[in-house]
Amino acid sequence: MLELPRPRKSKKQSNRTDRYRAWAEINLSHLKHNVEELKRRLPKDCRIMAVVKANAYGHGSVPIAQKLQSIGINSYAVAEVSEGIALRKAGIQGEILILGFTSPWQFADLCRYDLTQTVLNADYAMTLNQYGKKIKVHVKIDTGMGRLGENVDQVERILSIYRQPHLIVTGTYSHFSVPDSDLKEDIAFTNEQINRFYRLVHVIQSNGFDTGRLHLQSSYGILHYPHLRCDMARPGIALYGAIDVVKDNDESSVSLLPVLSLRARVIMVKRVPAGSSIGYGRLYRTTQDSIIATVSIGYADGIPRCLFEQGGHVLVKGQRVAIAGNICMDQMMIDVTHVEHVEEGDIVTLIGQDGDCRITAEEVAVRCHTIPNEWLTGIGSRVDRVYVN
Ligand SMILES: *Cc1c(COP(=O)(O)O)cnc(C)c1O
Repeated sequence: MLELPRPRKSKKQSNRTDRYRAWAEINLSHLKHNVEELKRRLPKDCRIMAVVKANAYGHGSVPIAQKLQSIGINSYAVAEVSEGIALRKAGIQGEILILGFTSPWQFADLCRYDLTQTVLNADYAMTLNQYGKKIKVHVKIDTGMGRLGENVDQVERILSIYRQPHLIVTGTYSHFSVPDSDLKEDIAFTNEQINRFYRLVHVIQSNGFDTGRLHLQSSYGILHYPHLRCDMARPGIALYGAIDVVKDNDESSVSLLPVLSLRARVIMVKRVPAGSSIGYGRLYRTTQDSIIATVSIGYADGIPRCLFEQGGHVLVKGQRVAIAGNICMDQMMIDVTHVEHVEEGDIVTLIGQDGDCRITAEEVAVRCHTIPNEWLTGIGSRVDRVYVN
């Protein structure tokens, strides 16, 4: 008979994450802290519409929304209907706004789950109205983003949206394209977007229509244009604390805390002689006798593959170590020659704190010429999410 291997008992670590290969630790009290910080920055009567699309930027939309609901948030934004349904099924109440396109096949679900649909333009308003049932909507105005929304100068078309008998307009909004930039011309552009929006709002209201609640700011809009007179703001990435704090520190007094830490394990340690090559493409070469650790996470878990070529690091035993060779689908290798006593089972931190060292989602994003949003939303579904309060 085959003898089953006994589970190896690690001497030092025997916590509840032992069974995970790769996991994201989600700190819900940091989420609460970030909400409070953003609220502090906004006018008192401005509400937060929490953007929890794309699985709450990889953090897990249901637990994130449940935590937000428990601290008094009652507006949420998602990209598509299925994300809204998942929240309703998990008991999320209040307003859920679909930011993107919903096909007529799904209009029934808008009603059934009490979801609020964005009106993408005047034609879309007609299509929605033809469904023949009352549907709650927010009207989207394109003030310069060039994406969704009826063009701000199409006043007649915009007014036609408010005349649709079956649409219940509970909000009107727009979206900035360069709120993060501190270039003079970008600031001027954002101010122009703001002016276009409020001039239009004035026209809509003076035609006797109710715009519902007004909202403009995403995360960087809140940080850089906090004093706008709005009824709501739509933070996404700032809720998750993955904002480039260094850049924003001087002008904004908010201190955001990263909600997500990403960790994996050393699953093998091996000694290799000088001159060895490591990994696909043989891109890492040891220049001395070295110790290489294999780590249980790879690009299928969302680690950007470019991280090796861009000189990326991970943390192990409170120290920064270099990635050794191309990142594989399910594993990666690191050079731990200079770290004492690395052994199987040791925790490797891809994002987060280990001892005095820290790697942020922004650091990884900058290295790979992207933004934290992109790679956080790419954290794989097979990465366990572990929630801590
Ligand atoms: C994604 C999104 C947001 C949130 O953006 P962040 O930069 O993550 O704060 C807000 N509004 C709209 C319309 C969006 O699509």
